[in-house]
Amino acid sequence: MPTTPLFPLPEGLEITSMSETPEELLVRVTSHRQTSCCPTCSTPSSAIHSYYRRKPRDLPCVGRPIHLLLTVRKFFCRNPHCSRKVFTERLPDFIEASSRLTTRLRTAVQEIGFATCGKGGERLGDKLGMPISDASLLWSLFLVPLPEVGQVHVIGVDDWSWRRGKRFGSILVNLETHKIVDLLVDGEAESVKQWLAAHPEVDVVSRDRGGCYIDGATWGAPQATQVADRWHILSNLGDAVEEFLIRAQIRLEDEKASSKAGQKPDNPLSSFSATPASQRKSQARLLRKWKLYQRVEELQAAGMSLRKIGEELGLARTTVRKYVRQAPDPPLPTPRPLRASRLDRYEDYLLARWSQGERNAAQLYREIRERGYPGSVTMVRAYLAHLRTSTADVSPLARASSVRQPSHRVRYAGC
Ligand SMILES: [Zn+2]
Repeated sequence: MPTTPLFPLPEGLEITSMSETPEELLVRVTSHRQTSCCPTCSTPSSAIHSYYRRKPRDLPCVGRPIHLLLTVRKFFCRNPHCSRKVFTERLPDFIEASSRLTTRLRTAVQEIGFATCGKGGERLGDKLGMPISDASLLWSLFLVPLPEVGQVHVIGVDDWSWRRGKRFGSILVNLETHKIVDLLVDGEAESVKQWLAAHPEVDVVSRDRGGCYIDGATWGAPQATQVADRWHILSNLGDAVEEFLIRAQIRLEDEKASSKAGQKPDNPLSSFSATPASQRKSQARLLRKWKLYQRVEELQAAGMSLRKIGEELGLARTTVRKYVRQAPDPPLPTPRPLRASRLDRYEDYLLARWSQGERNAAQLYREIRERGYPGSVTMVRAYLAHLRTSTADVSPLARASSVRQPSHRVRYAGC
C-alpha cells in the first residue's frame, strides 16, 4: 500500500497495512531505504545486520490515536576506524532515535505544552487523540532547543524563585527585547559575574540595590553602566512614603488627643527617629499591622462578614478571626520606639531643602541652627543617611561616596 497524501511519510518509508482496535488505529510501516549513515562516523552503510520493530505513536486521524508498527533495520558500520560495529537505522526527518513519538506528534505536544500546562495539556491531549501524561508533556518542552542568546546590550538581573519560593536564583532579561535570556540556579555574585564576563558587549546592567548584584555586575561587566531598576526605586520610595504617612497620621492623632486633654504634645513622632534602620523597618511593619487591625474592627462594626472582610483587605480568614477575637485590646505593641527627636521640628524644613537638592549635612546644620535647632550635626548626618537609604537617592554625593570604595566602583545613572 503506497503512502497517501492523507498520511505523508518520508522517502523510503511505506505503509504495508492498517488495522484498528476499539482504542486506536494501527499502521504498519516498513523502511526500504538502501543505506543509512553511522551516527558515530557518518559513513553510509548498506550492510544489513537485522530487522527490528518500533512502536511509536503518530499524529491522530479524525480524533483517533495512531500507533505505528515501524519495521526498521540495523546496519553494520564498515569503517575500520569506527568504534561502533552495528547501528540502528536513523530516520532523522521522521523520528528521533529511541523516541516513542514521531517528530510531528512531538511538535504538536510541545505546542499544547506551551499553550497550557502539565495537567491541562494532559486533559486536552486526551480529547484531541494525543494521549500523553503530564510528565511526558513537560519533558517534551525540555527537548525544545533554546534560542540563541545573541548580543545583549542592556541586561536586567533580579531574583526568581523556584521550588515554590524555597530557593532563589537569578533571572537575566534582555531589556531591549523583553525576553528572558538565562536563569542562573543561585543568586550569587560569582554566577552573575561569570555570565556577564562571557558577554563583553553588555553596556548597561539594571539591577536591584542589593550588594550581591552590584558586586556581580562590577566584577563581571566593569565596562557597563549600572542603574537601579525602576521597580526597586519605586518600591523603596513607596515603602518610605508609607512609613512617613503612617507616622504622620499617628502624630496627628497623638496631637489631637493631647490638645483635647489640654496638654502640649510631648511625643511628636517623626518619620525619622534616632533608632537603627532595622528597628525603624520593624516599626513600620507593626504600624501597618496596626492599621489593618483598626480597619478590621471598623468593617466588623459595620456588620461585614469575616469572609468579606478578608476579601476586602486581602487577609486570610484565620487572620481576620484572630484580630476579631483580640478585640477590644489591640494585638500589637504600641510603637514605643517612636521617640521624639530634637530634629523633628525641623524635619519639614530639611525635607524641603532635600527636595531642592541640598545634600550637605554641615550646610543644613548651619541653616537649622539659625532657626533654633539645639541638637548636634551628627543627628543631621544620620537623618540625611536615613533619607538617602529610604529614597534610593542618586545624588552626586551618593555617587562620589560609592566611587570611593574600591570594591564597589559603581557608576550610577538615573533611570
Ligand atoms: Zn561508524
